[in-house]
Amino acid sequence: MSSSNNGGDRRNNKVCCSFCGASLEDGKTQAVAGNNGAFICERCVAACNEMLGDKVKTANERNREKIRDAYIAGLKVPTPSQLKSGLDDYVVGQEHAKKVLSVAVYNHYKRLQSQLSTAPDAGFPEVDLEKSNVLLLGPTGSGKTLLARTLAKMLDVPFCICDATTLTEAGYVGEDVENIILRLVQAAEYDIERAQIGIIYVDEIDKIARKTDNVSITRDVSGEGVQQALLKILEGTVANVPPKGGRKHPEQSYLHVDTTNILFICGGAFIGLEKLVQRRVGRQVLGFEKNDEKAEVQAAGRHLSSDNFLSYCETEDLVKFGLIPELVGRLPVLTYLAPLSKSDLMKILTEPKNSLVKQYKKLLGMDHVDLEFTHDALEELALQAEKRGTGARGLRALLEELMLDVMYAIPDRSEVKKCLIDASAVRGESAVKLK
Ligand code: ADP
Repeated sequence: MSSSNNGGDRRNNKVCCSFCGASLEDGKTQAVAGNNGAFICERCVAACNEMLGDKVKTANERNREKIRDAYIAGLKVPTPSQLKSGLDDYVVGQEHAKKVLSVAVYNHYKRLQSQLSTAPDAGFPEVDLEKSNVLLLGPTGSGKTLLARTLAKMLDVPFCICDATTLTEAGYVGEDVENIILRLVQAAEYDIERAQIGIIYVDEIDKIARKTDNVSITRDVSGEGVQQALLKILEGTVANVPPKGGRKHPEQSYLHVDTTNILFICGGAFIGLEKLVQRRVGRQVLGFEKNDEKAEVQAAGRHLSSDNFLSYCETEDLVKFGLIPELVGRLPVLTYLAPLSKSDLMKILTEPKNSLVKQYKKLLGMDHVDLEFTHDALEELALQAEKRGTGARGLRALLEELMLDVMYAIPDRSEVKKCLIDASAVRGESAVKLK
């Protein structure tokens, strides 16, 4: 067979497609010639492709699928309890969120493996496992990004973080949603098949909430449009990604990235959501009372504690907050991170595998200096970080300020063997003690 745009079947002395009869004499329409003098035009070929769907695959596509399947088969997915204990090494507290995430991530990769032809037969051949992206609610600096990053590291899959506030729907000034995918492709060193099984953390998802409940006639550039665009990649599509980022333009060639198997973990502080939950829960409790279902009122009351209304958050609260219902529907795993207490902050300083104190100890150790913090100093640091209201983020900034002079002086002072930090040094009332 050969490709032609000037041959064709002859009907009424015109060169035509042997299938649809369309003229091939316009000089533009491509056609494939058979050995018997028959022709098929490009439109008929496209129609056949559509009809046969997956059955028509190029050698390149089949090859890419093979590579992807090999990556999926090669994934060593720890069990939920192994994932949880791996998270415990790095993330303090947030027990419930760690458990929910461990199960969600385990199920996500099990779902991927269930698509392989080599997957063990679990019965239920007619049941498709749906993708379950995750939504993390919780204040800033409580460990949302850290959880997502640690999971990706444990699974050894590509990972990237993006900020929802930088996104706009195509055509507006700002980043196209596809740039999120580009970041993951870059994290996978342009290995698209590997990127396709990665994890993307979308931060500040609450900032693209619709501003009002009313559907406005004017376009909401930063809200609903972006949510719609995000929805598409979250549910799974073949995204056209500009290889060098930036805005898309028609002449550009794109990377085609299938987002079906990418796990999206979205996070946000959702300030104000607590009030919406509180109002709904309050109404429900009152509703029970009216119906005189005392037992249920008591049951509801037992579970409710006013300090953590976000943990009772449901889909309708998120919609009230301004997320579109379709997007909430694509984030079926919902969990909540609590604000870090003073004792959590103290633990964060010392306990995680690469805690801040361990990092500074290592840095000073390289200059042969032994760094020590008194218990009171750790308590004071936690107290000050708590006052800043930025969760564990405050700790790093505080330590940087505190350690600046020490780290400046020590490399020139070979006689110093010990550096002791107590509460008064943290409060700035006395100098750090060097011995
Ligand atoms: P978020 O995404 O919730 O705003 P991050 O995960 O980015 O917060 O946290 C910022 C930094 O604070 C992290 O890099 C980590 O060092 C520390 N941190 C936050 N929460 C925790 C936690 N629960 N356990 C250990 N470290 C934490």
